Amino acid sequence: MSSWWQRAERAMPGGVSSPVRAFRAVGGAPPVIARAHGAEIVDTDGRSYIDLVGSWGPLILGHAHPAVIEAVTRAARDGLTFGATCRGEVELAERVLARYPFAERVRFVSTGTEAVMSAIRLARGATGRNRIVKFDGCYHGHSDSLLVKAGSGLATFGQPDSAGVPPELAALTEVLALDDEGAAEELFARRGSELACVLIEPLPANSGLLIQRLAFLSKLRELCTRHGALLIFDEVISGFRVAPGGMTELTGITPDLVTLGKILGGGMPAAGYLGRAQLMEQLAPNGPVYQAGTLSGNPLAMAAGIATLDALAAPGTYERLEALGVELETGLVQALKRAAQTAVVARVGSILWLALQRAPAPRAWAGVERGGAKRYGELHRELLARGVWLAPSAFEVAFLSLAHTSAHVACVVSAFEAALAAGATASGAARS
Ligand SMILES: *Cc1c(COP(=O)(O)O)cnc(C)c1O
Repeated sequence: MSSWWQRAERAMPGGVSSPVRAFRAVGGAPPVIARAHGAEIVDTDGRSYIDLVGSWGPLILGHAHPAVIEAVTRAARDGLTFGATCRGEVELAERVLARYPFAERVRFVSTGTEAVMSAIRLARGATGRNRIVKFDGCYHGHSDSLLVKAGSGLATFGQPDSAGVPPELAALTEVLALDDEGAAEELFARRGSELACVLIEPLPANSGLLIQRLAFLSKLRELCTRHGALLIFDEVISGFRVAPGGMTELTGITPDLVTLGKILGGGMPAAGYLGRAQLMEQLAPNGPVYQAGTLSGNPLAMAAGIATLDALAAPGTYERLEALGVELETGLVQALKRAAQTAVVARVGSILWLALQRAPAPRAWAGVERGGAKRYGELHRELLARGVWLAPSAFEVAFLSLAHTSAHVACVVSAFEAALAAGATASGAARS
């Protein structure tokens, strides 16, 4: 354990600024990071790892991409924050709207949490309704209304999923199962006129990778339209990741609002929400829905976002990410087969989830086998010891970046093979 980690634990709750970083789901003391370049991250003991976390999604270009660092450095010389509209905001807004052509306005905020929280306020303000719908297994940040889990039995209204969330507030959030048109139809039949919005990650990537059927997403669009509720696509992970226009582009479904974050800020804190003018103009100062932020549209974050989107616009980037994804998926699947171990890989482009359970890959949280978590902990430790930085939770996905090479992928696969072999020996039996 590094002395840095000991100091971190003494000074900060759990030693972290965000809970999953504490490695509680996998055990062991987390390395404290000193620096990172490209696909590699280096801890305070000088140990280097191939990074498959990518700061949980933003780093599609890899760490410290020269164009991003240059843009941020140049922006910094001209001032860190103005508290007034700046050129960078205009330039990033135009780029975002070009990638989401259905949308006519974007409002910038600093975090994904804030983007979703604000989009919900806008949906409530615009519809005059209070109830919202989310799905079991989707994560939308840590605002009170969304730290809610499914109620028991037939009750769809949610219950607090964190201390400090009032049950009265949680009760306004209905929680449905993914991949279940029937449940959505039933809720709309019962409460359709009370629902302000349906909020979904169109590619749920926070509880494993739960790839949805197009028919299910289309049904949500249809139900929202029929009952006057807004459809919000939370593309904080999928936006710019799976295609320039995210899942909105890939599915061809037009939501009413989209939330963006992570890649939008290119590693700096930036997020946003966007939609048609008639809806977005309900925001203050033009409309009655209030939302504000001292550091919103920060010039450094805007510069990082612009540089990131511009680098992504080079020809062949998404093809390259897909090819890398195929290489990693194929390598992992072959290694599992050789080790006679059961697991399934779910993948969309550069997002990959290794599910330690039988095929087929689940599409709803209920289908995710919790038993995989213990095996994952062993795998995580073995891989970390071999220089591969995997997310410290069985239910988090891996992200590839344009800084990863086929050589990095080959290293990951051979470390994975060695880890499987070591784990099998350690437990004294092949596990299935
Ligand atoms: C990460 C994430 C959020 C929250 O973003 P923060 O910047 O961590 O507040 C919201 N929605 C989705 C889908 C996310 O993956």
